[in-house]
Amino acid sequence: MSDANLDPKTAFPVPVADADTQPFWDGVARGELLIQRCGSCGAWLWQPRPICPRGQTPGPTWTRVSGDGRVASWVVMRPPTLPAYADKVPFVVLLVELDEGVRLLGYLVDGDGAMLETDGAAEGVAIGRRVAVRYHDQGGTRLPSFTLV
Ligand SMILES: [Zn+2]
Repeated sequence: MSDANLDPKTAFPVPVADADTQPFWDGVARGELLIQRCGSCGAWLWQPRPICPRGQTPGPTWTRVSGDGRVASWVVMRPPTLPAYADKVPFVVLLVELDEGVRLLGYLVDGDGAMLETDGAAEGVAIGRRVAVRYHDQGGTRLPSFTLV
């Protein structure tokens, strides 16, 4: 997490980890996508939580996943935006369903994790398209993002 840039005209919103989400963000910082899995029923859990909601089993295990999935939905971000995004629009935010069934949000990025300035048409963004996780640096914070494959 970075709080070095607090100028509201240039600062991006960044995640604020708590006790439940810190392992997720630590994994992202290392380039690993970690999702909790219940040791009792095997359910993949998202959002991070201390107890499985199915059987009330405590202490789900952080488990590395591939980050492969499909586009479940998506939206094109256009002006007006927060000031920090003014020179990045249009861009695409994907709702991705990982192969484990968990749904995460992320920017559409290229294979190196750079955010694409696009409405998604040229790239052929569509529900069901396969994606792979990449890591985008936003103001010093790594964010899971996705590239079309
Ligand atoms: Zn469970």
